[in-house]
Amino acid sequence: MSQSGPAIEISALNKWFGDYHALRDIDLQVEHGERIVVCGPSGSGKSTLIRCVNSLETHDSGTIRVDGLEMRDAASVAKVRAEVGMVFQQFNLFPHLTILQNLTLGPTKARGLSQKDAEQKAMAYLERVQIPDQAHKRPKELSGGQQQRVAIARSLCMEPKIMLFDEPTSALDPEMIAEVLDVILDLANDGMTMIVVTHEMGFARKAADRMIFMDHGAIVETGTPDVFFDAPKSERCRTFLSQIL
Ligand code: ADP
Ligand code: MG
Repeated sequence: MSQSGPAIEISALNKWFGDYHALRDIDLQVEHGERIVVCGPSGSGKSTLIRCVNSLETHDSGTIRVDGLEMRDAASVAKVRAEVGMVFQQFNLFPHLTILQNLTLGPTKARGLSQKDAEQKAMAYLERVQIPDQAHKRPKELSGGQQQRVAIARSLCMEPKIMLFDEPTSALDPEMIAEVLDVILDLANDGMTMIVVTHEMGFARKAADRMIFMDHGAIVETGTPDVFFDAPKSERCRTFLSQIL
């Protein structure tokens, strides 16, 4: 991938589910190394938007370019997916495999790494998310926070250029949220380009270069965290923030 031009360039994006207009004229440009936090009420289109970025959802009009490559056909979609990691609310680990096997599967099958190299990489990322000691356990033996850190490490094993997080802590018990946010913050500080859908506003203040507020399928407001939190322009955004802060 090239480093010139934006990492993600979305213009005039529209998406319908049947006759429901889920994304309305979305324009969004994300620079390399930029950290975007997306918030907004349930059903406002946050998941649909980031799922469009790696074609987990198709769009009906407009364009999406990831590192200059327009998502149009199967070939460009495959290339983009190889560069974009995604972490969901549910961890989606394979229950019958060990943590190490969960991490080596993609690199050996999709990237052609040897088992030994894949294991070395997996252990390095398990160190990074601070659970190398869990490598030989199965997912159900780990806490939710540990499983989500495994899911992040699994994504990192594919060496993504961009990471998308869709409410990565909303399925976790409160005491496990911080350990997962700390891992994401560490990645953010390391310069990873990322879009994070979250309502964890303390995290957003620390991690975000730019906040995006969505409502009814549209981007209603964007701004730096300072401006966004301290002086939201729209009534809808003020109301939303007053409900979650
Ligand atoms: P958010 O992540 O902000 O909660 P979503 O992007 O999941 O919102 O959903 C936006 C809207 O699109 C919601 O009204 C939701 O019901 C609808 N929607 C999402 N996925 C589908 C689908 N596969 N089929 C039909 N409607 C959907
Ligand atoms: Mg969602």
